Amino acid sequence: MTEAERKMQFLFALRSRGVTDGRVLGAMEQINRADFVQDGVFADKAYEDMPLPIACGQTISQPSIVGLMTQALNVQPRDKVLEVGTGSGYQAAILSLLARRVYTVDRHKALVSNARRIFEQLELPNVTVFTADGSHGLPDQAPFDRILVTAAAEDPPGPLLAQLKIGGIMVVPVGQEETVQTLIRVERTESGLDYKELRDVRFVPLLEGISRD
Ligand code: SAH
Repeated sequence: MTEAERKMQFLFALRSRGVTDGRVLGAMEQINRADFVQDGVFADKAYEDMPLPIACGQTISQPSIVGLMTQALNVQPRDKVLEVGTGSGYQAAILSLLARRVYTVDRHKALVSNARRIFEQLELPNVTVFTADGSHGLPDQAPFDRILVTAAAEDPPGPLLAQLKIGGIMVVPVGQEETVQTLIRVERTESGLDYKELRDVRFVPLLEGISRD
């Protein structure tokens, strides 16, 4: 199969799993998942709809889930977005094509430096990546229009809710590790927070503190 055919099939699979937003599909067409998957055994699986292992015992999410989460976030061109859980950097790269500014944090330094190198290579100047415990958000850059959490929290973290603008949206998987978790969309309105359950998902847990490796 040629690269172009593989891409076509990739986009077709995304559509058939409910990713229908044209801007999201466009961004996912432009960003090559293969750039974020380590060379070697998994490189040829980059365009299959499955999560894949990355460094530090973490995973790059399944493309259809990346698409559905991005779609649920409804990112606008002027938005300032925070992603918690940089991982490979794939999700942040997609967000960078849709938003004005993206901040992404991970608790693993090695993942952060790897993602930073890829963002530079791909010339995505509006993404900034930090090593940080993202459950505290990024107080210096807050408030945010959109917050995407790509690790499962037991509850939506309070500091993140507090860093959401009015009209802002947060998408976060909620639930215990090793069980089915629920993807939640939270919108901050003038009068409070609106919660909507989207679907069952499975993510690595949101852990406390910076990792030592
Ligand atoms: N969005 C990623 C996949 C994320 S996997 C991608 O596109 O590839 C989840 C990531 O969340 C892991 O890399 C893990 O290190 C990170 N993580 C877990 N708890 C965290 C925390 N408290 N703060 C920041 N990152 C965290």
